[in-house]
Amino acid sequence: MPGCVHQELREEGQFDGRAPAFKRALIAVIAINGAMFLVEVFAGYLAGSQALKADALDFAGDTATYMLSLAVIGASLRIRSTAALFKGASLGLMALFVLATTVVSAFTGAAPEANVMSGIGLLALAANVVSVLILLRWRDGDANIRSVWLCSRNDAIGNVAVIGAGAAVWATGSFWPDLIVATLLAGLFAKSSIAIVTQALRERRGSLNIAKTDS
Ligand SMILES: [Zn+2]
Repeated sequence: MPGCVHQELREEGQFDGRAPAFKRALIAVIAINGAMFLVEVFAGYLAGSQALKADALDFAGDTATYMLSLAVIGASLRIRSTAALFKGASLGLMALFVLATTVVSAFTGAAPEANVMSGIGLLALAANVVSVLILLRWRDGDANIRSVWLCSRNDAIGNVAVIGAGAAVWATGSFWPDLIVATLLAGLFAKSSIAIVTQALRERRGSLNIAKTDS
C-alpha cells in the first residue's frame, strides 16, 4: 500500500510439495485483491468518492505484485526487474490520474455517498486481513514476516482512513475529508511507485552487468 513497496513473494529454488500449495495461495490472494480492486473502483465512481478510487490503487498494486510472483517463478532477474519496471510505471500513472481527478473534484465535486465509502472501506479491511492470513505461512524468516506486517499495517491504515473519511463526510456534509484522504493515499502511492521503478532500474543494470561478465 501507500508507503509500502510490496515485495514479491518467491519460493527460492524449491519445487517440491510446497510449490503447488504456494501457487494456490497466490491464486487465492490474486483473486481477492483483483476482485476488491474492481469493487472499490466501481464503488468509487458510483459513490463519487476519490478516496475509494485511491484506496483501490493498493489492490491493483497487490494484484500485480502477486501475479508477478506467480508468473516469474524461476525467471531470471532481468525478466523480473523488467516486469517490476512495468508494474511501477503503470501504478505511477494510475496514481497521477487519481491525483489529477481529485484536483478537478475540488472544483466540481459534490459530497460523496458517506455510507458507501465506510461500508466498502470495511470490506477492503476484511479482504486485506484475509490476504495476510493466507500469505503469512509463506513468509520465511524474520525480515519477511516483518515486511508482511508492515505492509499489511499500512494497508489497514489506508482502509481505516477511508472509513474515517466516510464518517467525516457524513458528519460534515463536505467533500473535503474525501479529497484530503484521496490526496494522501494517491500521493504516497505515487511515491512508492517511484521507489519500485528506481529499484527495478537498478536491478536491470545489475543483471545486465552480470550478463556481460558471464560472456
Ligand atoms: Zn497493499
